[in-house]
Amino acid sequence: MENYLTPNFAFAPVIPESAQGSRVWDTEGREYIDLAGGIAVNALGHCHPVLQAALNQQAAKLWHISNLYTTQAAQDLAQKLVENTFADKVFFCNSGAEANEAAFKLARKYAFDHFGAEKNEIIACVNGFHGRTLFTVSVGGQPKYQEGFAPLPAGITHIPFNDVAALEAAISDKTCAVVIEPVQGESGVLPADIEFLQAARRVCDENQALLVLDEVQTGMGRTGKLFAYEHYGVLPDIVSSAKALGAGFPIGAMLTSDKVAPSLSLGSHGSTFGGNPLAAAVGSAAFDIINDAQTLAHVNAQGARLQDALRQIGEEFGLFEQVRGLGLLIGAVLSEAYAQRAGEFVKVALQHGLMILNAGSNVVRFAPSLLLSDEDLQDAVAALRQTAQAFVQADK
Ligand SMILES: *Cc1c(COP(=O)(O)O)cnc(C)c1O
Repeated sequence: MENYLTPNFAFAPVIPESAQGSRVWDTEGREYIDLAGGIAVNALGHCHPVLQAALNQQAAKLWHISNLYTTQAAQDLAQKLVENTFADKVFFCNSGAEANEAAFKLARKYAFDHFGAEKNEIIACVNGFHGRTLFTVSVGGQPKYQEGFAPLPAGITHIPFNDVAALEAAISDKTCAVVIEPVQGESGVLPADIEFLQAARRVCDENQALLVLDEVQTGMGRTGKLFAYEHYGVLPDIVSSAKALGAGFPIGAMLTSDKVAPSLSLGSHGSTFGGNPLAAAVGSAAFDIINDAQTLAHVNAQGARLQDALRQIGEEFGLFEQVRGLGLLIGAVLSEAYAQRAGEFVKVALQHGLMILNAGSNVVRFAPSLLLSDEDLQDAVAALRQTAQAFVQADK
């Protein structure tokens, strides 16, 4: 197939055409089990009937009206987010990067409003990932995503993830925000230590800085809680959400408290599509299915099963050095013998009818549907075993 798109993506050699639940079919009619979930987006699998109905119902009523108006659909989803989290107010946008862009701008604006222009520094983590706009790659801690795009926004420092001493040393009265992913997703599915997030909350309070948690990947049930901060016993000031929020329909959100929200004052920020009724209606229907004790228990149960299977396969083939994660966000770290070959493993898996992800070059990542059935899990594990065999064999 001719490729008319810019060369910043390396597309896989197969073309998906249709999908249902955790199964995908390509243009050649081949079937795949999907443990990638569109990179932690398809939280309820593909073409969930309840989401389809919500989308179709809204599509027959109102598609777009702009932020000159509010809609019942946007208010409904915002109300659900507020009533089930730390947050009091919600700003809607269309992606994770936009949710973080809003979060970082709000953190600066809040400090500006209350403490003056000098308090503008952002502390973030090495290997963090927050999106691909210029501000978000700058707060992100991966130089490869910044290269060639200078000059970058100033006032951003990076500390090693989970390093409490480095955080204590870096923070000052000039700090407006500390930005953390509760589980570093793109760079290797690395969960934050409880001590790190709790220390972050403490030093933010001591320095009148805001704690911003990027839950674009970890939010909306992915880790077995609605948001991952619930695992840590800390309350953030701002949380960004996207990916699973629309379960496949593009939507992002920035959640914040009544203390901070007033700084996003009239006219200070905006978005043409943010809160779009189609996206909000789908998000609202997805929210009800995700924010359900049974769904979240299922995430924890299937996550534990998948982790066990990965440990077994890892031992059988000497493939993985560690299996880690929370809920259904799981990373398998390649052993020394296969170091840095996660991308290759993902390609072999596709040849065996399995869609998975890498997270950096050394970690194989899994972010399947939160509704992953026992049968799909079983078939996926069988395909994983075949993949591991072929991968290890090819090396001999
Ligand atoms: C995916 C991701 C983003 C970026 O989201 P986009 O929708 O691609 O802009 C930001 N932060 C984290 C933690 C992510 O995983």
